[in-house]
Amino acid sequence: MTLLDITDLTVTYSTDDETIHAVNGVSFTIDEGVNYGLAGESGSGKSTAAEAVLGLLADNGTVESGTIEFKRTELTALSTEQRRDVLWEEIAYIPQSAMDSLDPVMTTGAQIKQAIQKHRNVSTAKARDRVRELFERVGLDPNRIDDYPHEFSGGMRQRVTIAMALALDPELIIADEPTTGLDVIVQDRIVDTILDIQERIDSSLLLITHDIGVIAETCDELSLLYGGKVMEQGSVESVLINPSNPYTMGLKNSFPSVDDTDENPVSIPGSPPNLTEEPSSCVFVDRCPFATEECEASHPDVVDLPNRNQRSACHHVQQAARMRRDAVDPAT
Ligand code: ATP
Ligand code: MG
Repeated sequence: MTLLDITDLTVTYSTDDETIHAVNGVSFTIDEGVNYGLAGESGSGKSTAAEAVLGLLADNGTVESGTIEFKRTELTALSTEQRRDVLWEEIAYIPQSAMDSLDPVMTTGAQIKQAIQKHRNVSTAKARDRVRELFERVGLDPNRIDDYPHEFSGGMRQRVTIAMALALDPELIIADEPTTGLDVIVQDRIVDTILDIQERIDSSLLLITHDIGVIAETCDELSLLYGGKVMEQGSVESVLINPSNPYTMGLKNSFPSVDDTDENPVSIPGSPPNLTEEPSSCVFVDRCPFATEECEASHPDVVDLPNRNQRSACHHVQQAARMRRDAVDPAT
């Protein structure tokens, strides 16, 4: 069953002198039990899309159009209170930099206990037991629930935020860059923890990260955003093994670990698009090796690729696919 269904979501931010088109007609769905990755370079609109789902956009942010259905309920039509209930009861959110936003003057256990007791009528003793259980589930020592955030390392603090997100048995967990800012080994352990949790409780996950290597390891499906547009989406296997979009290829080269090659990362030359105008050309045109007049003239629609669980927005899907094959085997 489909849990989250986002259709044509468009979000802008207004500042004193301009409008930022942060998310431009994004659609994707997350089915029950699926780990879904949302990837893309910094500024591509990942957090904005998540915040729109959660009803937590900054004050200057507006959902201009589109629908966001969670279990067939249109979230944008709910009152703020109703929305907050859904958020706490069914969708858990681990915001970007969550581990730095824990309350420094309250013990970690007390923060989780407070979240539980706000939404569940349980005794303090029961809530404490639950906190111990959650600590264990995320790989923390349950005897440390009375420790303060500063007594934990960064990786452990991130585990605390994951424990907090699991407190009310959510159906969907939205985690924004849960591994960023941690060293590589700790990142791996957090990824393992997420996978472990996924196996034991059958929630779905929306994992936001710029690191497609993390998505390759943890997710079933993904969307790649650029300039607030979906450039490519579908099954992780299909998209990351056979990318059909020049942007996906560029991202793959910046994370060689996806292919397990020893090549050095090569980041995509150029800089992100200007978001102050609604896209009138392909958002990737300035950085794309295949760009033609057609790409200047309009942004391509997202279209299904035949016989694959894969969709791509590119005027030159065929050429891009050919280039990928040539790169793999220049003889053919
Ligand atoms: P990152 O990987 O750096 O977290 P992101 O993909 O999450 O990036 P967003 O934070 O969604 O990107 O930002 C999308 C665009 O919207 C960026 O250009 C950003 O500068 C802009 N933006 C985000 N929040 C606001 C705001 N409150 N006011 C104005 N512009 C904003
Ligand atoms: Mg972000």
